[in-house]
Amino acid sequence: MGADVRKNMLAQEILLKRRAEILHALCSSRSGEHLEEVVDMLLAQGELGWEDYQNVLVPGRALYSNARQLLDLVYTKGADSCGLFFSAVKQVLPEAQGAGFFSSQCPSSLDDRVKPQRTATEDLLTQRPGLVCKLQGCIDGVLGALVESGHFSSTDCDGVQLPIHTPSQQARRLLDHVRSKGESAASVVLQYVQQRQESGSSLEQKKQVLTKEFVKYQKKLSISVSAQSRFLSTYGGTSHMPLDDIYTEVQLELPNNSAEIYKSMGFEDIIGPVGTVNEDADTVLVSGEAGSGKSTWLQKLHLLWAQGSALQDFLLLFPFSCRRLNSEHKDLSVQELLFQHCCWPDREQEEIFQFILDHPHLVLFTFDGLDELKQSFVDEHRICCPNQRAPVHVLLFNLIQGSLMKGVRKVVTSRPEAVAPALKKHLHKEVHLKGFSPSGIDCFVRKHHSDPNEAAMVLESLQANTALLGLCHSPVLCWIVSQCHKELLGCGEGSPQTVTDVYLMILQHFFQHHSTFKLSIGVSWLQQNLGTVLHLGQLAFEGISNFNYIFSVADLEICGVTESDICMGFLIQSKNMSPAHSKYYEFLHVTMQCFFAAIYVILSSNTGCSAIPKLFELQEIKKNSVGCACFGAYLHSSNTQKILEEHSTTAETSNLQITATFVSGLLSQRYQKLWLHCSSSVLVEKKARQAARCLSKGMQQHFRSIPQPVQGEKKSMHAMPEFVWLIKCIYEMQESRIAMNAMSKLEVDHLKLTYCNIGPVECTALAYVLKHLKNPVGLQLDNNSVGDVGVEQLLPCMQICNSLYLRNNNITDEGIRKLINQVFNLENFQKIALFNNRLTDACTLHFSYLLKTKQNFLSLRLGNNNITAVGAKQLAEGLKFNHSLQYLGLWGNKIGDEGAEALANALQYSKSIVWFSLVGNGVGSAGACALSNIIRYSTSLEELWLTENCITRTGVESLIQALKHNDHVKSVWLKNNDLSSEEVEEMQQTEARLVF
Ligand code: ADP
Repeated sequence: MGADVRKNMLAQEILLKRRAEILHALCSSRSGEHLEEVVDMLLAQGELGWEDYQNVLVPGRALYSNARQLLDLVYTKGADSCGLFFSAVKQVLPEAQGAGFFSSQCPSSLDDRVKPQRTATEDLLTQRPGLVCKLQGCIDGVLGALVESGHFSSTDCDGVQLPIHTPSQQARRLLDHVRSKGESAASVVLQYVQQRQESGSSLEQKKQVLTKEFVKYQKKLSISVSAQSRFLSTYGGTSHMPLDDIYTEVQLELPNNSAEIYKSMGFEDIIGPVGTVNEDADTVLVSGEAGSGKSTWLQKLHLLWAQGSALQDFLLLFPFSCRRLNSEHKDLSVQELLFQHCCWPDREQEEIFQFILDHPHLVLFTFDGLDELKQSFVDEHRICCPNQRAPVHVLLFNLIQGSLMKGVRKVVTSRPEAVAPALKKHLHKEVHLKGFSPSGIDCFVRKHHSDPNEAAMVLESLQANTALLGLCHSPVLCWIVSQCHKELLGCGEGSPQTVTDVYLMILQHFFQHHSTFKLSIGVSWLQQNLGTVLHLGQLAFEGISNFNYIFSVADLEICGVTESDICMGFLIQSKNMSPAHSKYYEFLHVTMQCFFAAIYVILSSNTGCSAIPKLFELQEIKKNSVGCACFGAYLHSSNTQKILEEHSTTAETSNLQITATFVSGLLSQRYQKLWLHCSSSVLVEKKARQAARCLSKGMQQHFRSIPQPVQGEKKSMHAMPEFVWLIKCIYEMQESRIAMNAMSKLEVDHLKLTYCNIGPVECTALAYVLKHLKNPVGLQLDNNSVGDVGVEQLLPCMQICNSLYLRNNNITDEGIRKLINQVFNLENFQKIALFNNRLTDACTLHFSYLLKTKQNFLSLRLGNNNITAVGAKQLAEGLKFNHSLQYLGLWGNKIGDEGAEALANALQYSKSIVWFSLVGNGVGSAGACALSNIIRYSTSLEELWLTENCITRTGVESLIQALKHNDHVKSVWLKNNDLSSEEVEEMQQTEARLVF
């Protein structure tokens, strides 16, 4: 018997004996990546046939069952298969694990067995492992090529790009699908990949001239970046969660109204040309609220780079966390900053740094959490020399604005409040991160729960509680809700409504999971864990007060935090803090720190009642600050703290605002019982009264700042983001009395909340409070992120709304369906503006119904949506029966002649329409001729807008004829139509009311 045969027999034996361990290792990645990689290799070797493959990886079947099936199959195929199987496992699993089962003895080398290839379909199979890797960075491109060549339909593409799949799974689905489409589809894929490789080869050539030391350094850096980014830290306390398994796409939007706005932006787009505002600047800013997923998004970017799946034009990527940079108190040069804080080159430091200086465009820096840097961005102290030492924040500001390391691309994340105007002018582009989309929530929950039934139950309970669904757009809240699914499913009617409810739920969840004691009878969970809550509360509070988010062991000791407090899981060990031997801790998330700080404000008698007004009136104090101390100093009477004005950042205010929001929620009547036996009831009640008073006072201050209206104009209030914060605090309290009281003194006709970062959560709070307004208002929410869920949340306040402005808010037909269902019989509701949303013909059915039923409706503006002739015909059906509409705006749709004719038919005898716009709708002369009938017969029309269409002489002549019979039309706008300048001149002379 030959040696190889013996080894293979041994492999078969080991497969049987160590089955449980092998299974476990294959399934250690929850997305099943290890298993799929092994299968790829065996397929490529011809060891598994196509049928075997389909029997092993059955979609929807549990990962372990698939893995068992593979082991059974390999075992029954015999000793040689087992040998090959172990060779594949060795390549796929991390070194320690993979070689552990059947280390150097592996007899069957995978490479020996490559067979000659013939067809493209066979090539796809034999090259499968490599192709899976290569395709990940270019799925869109390959799909485009397949669609263009007629092999794939858009349904095929959707099947491949299901968001629930990881990039590698998408690549595999693509290969599987292509296989079923035959030889020529397979050739398209192979050709595409080859071309891409060739075009990337110039970069390869560049890499070839790199020295050995540089390549070593690059590898070291990439390994370090990969190690730092592979796991998600919020799961650190409970289990290790690979980022690849849980990462869910987030919504990234450009701030302007460009057509790109609703396309999701990929990682490459962040660096690419789309959305560029300043070609000369190098810094891309990704801004988003706390918990919107900025750090996780950046972490994914790091991981993709380290895995070779994205941003491969950058040879080096240096990741920084501003939170950690705060702890660097020495002056550093850029070189020291890079090498000491990211990755140390073992040799040739100078040569490597010189390469960076010589090739800035091949280098990427990322800075996470600029808002957490202790110093606000200023553009004062310029340094240009990379060898000059300076305080880290000065280096950072110079890097961002480009006087240092010009040409190196920098990606910075921050909360929006902390983006100083001085920074804006140094931005290459800005992108807003808006958390999960509705389908993102769905996808995240499914990824979080490996049991599909459990996921379905969580999603069902979210659908039943739209306030909670709204909260889940914020990934951090979605994570909590998913973690607490048992509590959620058990709470029935009392399902969480507010952010405070959700955080209390996770608090209780952690205590129940980590506490070793059984709850004593008559003792509440809070009482049982009071020690831990107070210790962590104090730590959090001191941290928030002193801009501290990373805590040393000494900090913990001062607040009495013990090992068992740490074990509860709210604190995690900080990564990458030097020196290596001492431990540092941080809260799972900054919002968790704010929550503990809020509990401390309520429970502690040290902070007394004075903390409450100070917390709520901080804005006032900051506005009028004259040598004002930082919040810590301000709260404690001691003067040992630093001075606020030296260091003040807006993020610090934002954390205090989040804390105050939690304080409001925790002081709600609903939670009075929670504090029993934990604090003096008298004190808690006093604090609650104070909080209510502060909120009311804050509101009154806002109202007083409303300028008196100019005569003849409506009284309008332009709310600032702080107004939204106060509204959110009131909502957290869940006491109608407070909401009613706050609104009783607001007397405006128009409430403007444009660009106030209003998403579904804010809509819930707004509706809760605004429904108590005494008089109807116009509610202007243009340029926010209301979305369909937000629209649904606004419904409770629609009865006080006479006009609703929702321009640019990501609303679809479904949102409109829900809205109209509610408003069609509300007396006050008369105007709606929905410019630039995602509406299609489907929404016009609902508007048609609204127009038919509501005979006091005045204004409908649907510009810049996706309405065609079909939609226009449906609208026309409603218009025929409506006698009140005065303004109809359809600018920038696609209704064409057919649509224009239908609308003209419906409006020609109108006695109400005053203003009608069909600008930019592909209307030609046939449409114009039909529209002349409105001029001819309608007794009310004053302005007709037909700019930017394709109307020719015939059409205009018809309009002129009609105008002869009409003296109340003031103007007909016809700029940019199909007319020569001579025609324009001639017609202008014939009819002065035509505007060209
Ligand atoms: P931010 O940096 O904006 O405060 P984080 O990135 O820290 O927010 O997100 C908070 C938590 O939300 C993360 O720890 C993670 O559990 C969850 N999370 C955020 N973004 C994602 C995502 N894209 N996919 C899956 N989970 C996410």
